[in-house]
Amino acid sequence: MNAIDTAAERERALADVLAGRYPDERGRYGPFGGRYVPETLIPAHERLERGARRWLADAAFQAELNQELRDWVGRPTALSPAPHLSRRWGAQVWLKREDLAHTGAHKINNALGQAMLARRLGARRIVAETGAGQHGVACAAACARVGLPCTVYMGALDMERQAPNVGRMRLLGAKVVAVNSGDRTLRAAIDEALRDWVADPTGTYYLLGSAVGGHPYPYIVRELQAVIGREARAQMLERAGALPDALIACVGGGSNSIGLFHAFLGDAGVDIIGVEAGGRGAALGENAATVVYGRPGVLHGSYSLLLQDRHGQIQETHSISAGLDYPGVGPEHALLASIGRVRYETVDDGEALEAVRECCRLEGILPALESAHALAGARRWAATHAGARVLVGLSGRGDKDMPTLSQTLLAQPDEAQR
Ligand SMILES: *Cc1c(COP(=O)(O)O)cnc(C)c1O
Repeated sequence: MNAIDTAAERERALADVLAGRYPDERGRYGPFGGRYVPETLIPAHERLERGARRWLADAAFQAELNQELRDWVGRPTALSPAPHLSRRWGAQVWLKREDLAHTGAHKINNALGQAMLARRLGARRIVAETGAGQHGVACAAACARVGLPCTVYMGALDMERQAPNVGRMRLLGAKVVAVNSGDRTLRAAIDEALRDWVADPTGTYYLLGSAVGGHPYPYIVRELQAVIGREARAQMLERAGALPDALIACVGGGSNSIGLFHAFLGDAGVDIIGVEAGGRGAALGENAATVVYGRPGVLHGSYSLLLQDRHGQIQETHSISAGLDYPGVGPEHALLASIGRVRYETVDDGEALEAVRECCRLEGILPALESAHALAGARRWAATHAGARVLVGLSGRGDKDMPTLSQTLLAQPDEAQR
């Protein structure tokens, strides 16, 4: 692996990032990325790579995608000043409102784009996997819109925990298949979805939900989510008359964050911060902060950072937010961390809950628990940057988190009285 150790190497890698040289022809982001998939899936990944390069650059495809993003997803999403959080925290807080996108989060940008790509590639059906169910719902909706049958694999344990999302997927026409093997959660569901894809790699399209996986998935997902940052950058210039001093988003697999960050990577004056789930603390198994605590290794098709023990066993993770509860992270984040362009920090469960409370009370917005990690990161940043502008990626709405919020925030005495 060509590691990035010296300042000169970091500078060269940043220049390559800004010149759009990643992923390179081998699907790498510096030393990270690549395609570590079973032999049987190599041709399918190669076909997908050729198709993605062609169609994502095709003017007619882009025109159709942009029309659907406008008419069906509801883009551009708003950029909201947050005057009350600004007063409380002492910095100028702006929110990029992916919570207002159709189905309630940024995930729809990717699901729609890939479903449209699948059509162009001649696929007859879509398979996907989902953990908490948010990606499954976005997939089911996008497939209904595009007119392709959709099968979503979901761990049996997750189906119990996320029953409302299972119902939503079924209403939207998807077939939800319970996975009873392995850990009966996301990991087992991924295995089943891949098995399905191997059985018919030309007729079936595998729709991956975050900026992870073997090449070209991290590239496809970044390209489809980059609309967030393009819009936000133009909106900031128009509304605030300036770029933000800092940009902050939460990082699970890394799709909403890479989407927000990408248009700003060349803006040297913009401090970019990715917030990971600090969970209950720094010990192995107590968090899902992959960049902060992880080490390099291969997971789900790509070489990146991951949470593993001394023997290379993937670790169980914990976060109060299901969407951040993943032991890996997209390879482009591993590169951005190693060259120092993006700084990664943790926010723990308690800080995220407090940010939900403040955002609800002060701005009248119920943020997703994932997004609340970014808000808490912004509050911390604001404490040392009085009066500066901070743009926060509000990746989704928090309605889905009511079961967790009922047992936490609403169970606190001062809330229960209201
Ligand atoms: C899934 C999800 C995330 C985490 O996924 P990324 O790929 O890291 O963006 C963050 N926020 C919300 C609202 C989500 O649903």
